[in-house]
Amino acid sequence: MIGVTENLAKTNALVTKLCHDYERDAGAVRLIAVSKKHSAEAIAAVAACGQHDIGENFVTEALDKRAALADIASLNWHFIGALQSNKTRSVAENFDWVHTIDRLKIAERLNAQRPHHAAPLKVLIQINIDGETSKSGIAQDAAIDLAREIVQLPSLELRGLMCLPRPTATLTEQRQPFARLAALRTQMSDALGCALPDLSMGMSGDLEAAIAEGATQVRVGTAIFGPRPTTAGGN
Ligand SMILES: *Cc1c(COP(=O)(O)O)cnc(C)c1O
Repeated sequence: MIGVTENLAKTNALVTKLCHDYERDAGAVRLIAVSKKHSAEAIAAVAACGQHDIGENFVTEALDKRAALADIASLNWHFIGALQSNKTRSVAENFDWVHTIDRLKIAERLNAQRPHHAAPLKVLIQINIDGETSKSGIAQDAAIDLAREIVQLPSLELRGLMCLPRPTATLTEQRQPFARLAALRTQMSDALGCALPDLSMGMSGDLEAAIAEGATQVRVGTAIFGPRPTTAGGN
């Protein structure tokens, strides 16, 4: 796991440098290590280096790793995958964050299923920022209505917005969808009269663009854990 800890140190250094370059406060950007299809041992290795925010896409796979790592109490688990209704209970019971809320039904189920002794589940609304037909995420023009409903749910805490843009090649192109997400967050925050502190945007390939446009959470997999194995995995 030496490679993983070196990669983590490099990624942290890059985030720090980009915060400096774009005049963001040091510590304004939270790094989430995305470990889908990587082992519990790899997560333990980054946790030992102080990386406690972990992102997972598949419920069953995540629960197996969470069980294997139960003795590491300090981990924060972020659900960043597509969430089906029949998996909401496991997510409500086992995760700290959900980044991919795109319909009220899922939010209502998470709210009802969040254990009463637990802190409210922190959630982000996923926006289909490029308006792609086959993509998850809610359309930009429907997002404020969804947000109005979500803020009524007492066991959820609406923290902001998330997006997963279509891949593009240049920094200029990469910044455009992130700028749109940031603008929508401001518009939503004004409409609702509440702070929405978080923008979850940016991955291994578009980290700079995301930090330039105000990301507060970046979701980085490959740059930390290496390429994902293509076989195993699934939901
Ligand atoms: C896999 C994944 C990531 C991490 O992507 P990398 O390119 O490996 O950094 C980030 N966000 C989401 C939603 C993902 O599914």
